[in-house]
Amino acid sequence: MDVEKAIKLNEEPLIRSVCEILKIRSVEEDPAPGKPFGEGVAKALEYALDLADSFGLRTRNLDNYIGWAEWGEGDEMVGILVHLDVVPEGKGWTYPPYGGEIHDGKIYGRGAIDNKGPAMAALYALKTLKDAGVKFKRRVRVIFGTNEESGMKCINYYLEHDEAPTMGFSPDAEYPIINGEKGILTFSLKSDFEKCCGRKKAPTRLISLKGGQRPNMVPDYAEAVLRGDVAYLEEKFRAFKEKSGYDMEFSTDGETVTVKSHGVSAHGSLPHKGKNAVMQLVAFLSELDLDNTAQEDFIRFLNDKIGLDTTGKGLGVDVSDDLSGPLTFNVGIIRLDEKAGEVVINIRYPIKYKGEELLFRIKENLAQGVRLEDVSDNPPHYVPEDSVIVQTLKEAYEKVTGEKAYCFSIGGGTYARMVKNAVAFGPGFPGKPELAHEKDEYIEIEDLLKNLRIYTNVLLELVT
Ligand SMILES: [Zn+2]
Repeated sequence: MDVEKAIKLNEEPLIRSVCEILKIRSVEEDPAPGKPFGEGVAKALEYALDLADSFGLRTRNLDNYIGWAEWGEGDEMVGILVHLDVVPEGKGWTYPPYGGEIHDGKIYGRGAIDNKGPAMAALYALKTLKDAGVKFKRRVRVIFGTNEESGMKCINYYLEHDEAPTMGFSPDAEYPIINGEKGILTFSLKSDFEKCCGRKKAPTRLISLKGGQRPNMVPDYAEAVLRGDVAYLEEKFRAFKEKSGYDMEFSTDGETVTVKSHGVSAHGSLPHKGKNAVMQLVAFLSELDLDNTAQEDFIRFLNDKIGLDTTGKGLGVDVSDDLSGPLTFNVGIIRLDEKAGEVVINIRYPIKYKGEELLFRIKENLAQGVRLEDVSDNPPHYVPEDSVIVQTLKEAYEKVTGEKAYCFSIGGGTYARMVKNAVAFGPGFPGKPELAHEKDEYIEIEDLLKNLRIYTNVLLELVT
């Protein structure tokens, strides 16, 4: 059978399989025996592997962390990295989030585009080539992760227990080709307020300040509790609010004062798209005369050296390169009371830089008493444009879409960064709305089929 005919024959079954797998609520849950991420994700993995078995592919389930379906012969293996876990559905859906319903040419459901639709398209691309009787000189393995959304423990487990692909791609972002991912540096800046300096006579005591939940999100809410001269604080607040224009609220029970700050959430790799509620509040607090000198110093250090800037300028790390653009800097969390304070920071740094080099620069710019701790450094990932994998993806994309394929870099992290010679490739087409993690997530059937066609062409090129 020729490949074109095999593609056509697999279109309807692909649509059906996507609808079916969307009915499984594969959100991470508490572990169950033999199911490290709970029942739901294990069920989705079982579905995918049973389907692959029914196609006559070789399969393996690695203890419900991750599984794969493989076809072909040869020493080299092409990996397609997909995931079957989804983020919680949230509220406000027009159609049931686990219905797998089709309306107006779109398949609706949590995971439709992120990432079950593309996962099924990849599996069917492999089946298509098998159906067409293509002779493989490389093996192709569709790798089904089940913990992409909450820690990528699945792919780590895979790399510890199984064969790393020679090259590959992950259809879990956007087209055309993402061949670079920035480095991701997460750390805390901490200070103790008890040991040094003590208290001074001042009108205000800062009892607590908290905001943000995850380092990689721009916090959209923060709250401070203060004690002191209420009239003084209220006046300070009014003046600050007017000057800054920030969305903030003041309330008091006559004794304590609560100041709430509202920002706009955004992904930690795009901090300039959000409004940081924590740093808005820090800006206000830095104008107060606080009775705890060390605490006041910490607040002022945060405001002076970071503030609402998202480039890292104040700490000497506003670097950039031609491959991936500028560093981004996000204060994701603050926790502070009368004894100690801590901010958790998430940096996405350009491909040509090293994490240690940036940490060194930051340390040089810290105020006295501020410590840098709890560092995690996930180095940048880059696959050259002239590599076999990138060239093949380019050709297939241009052939199927008629559009020019080009490479770009992102600040986010995909599965691709875990594997040498792997890039992110689709499934979102340029100009289409971003639906991942949103309500009413869907995949257009036309795009799903286009993905099937692109992946089939990519694999055909790589295996023959
Ligand atoms: Zn995803």
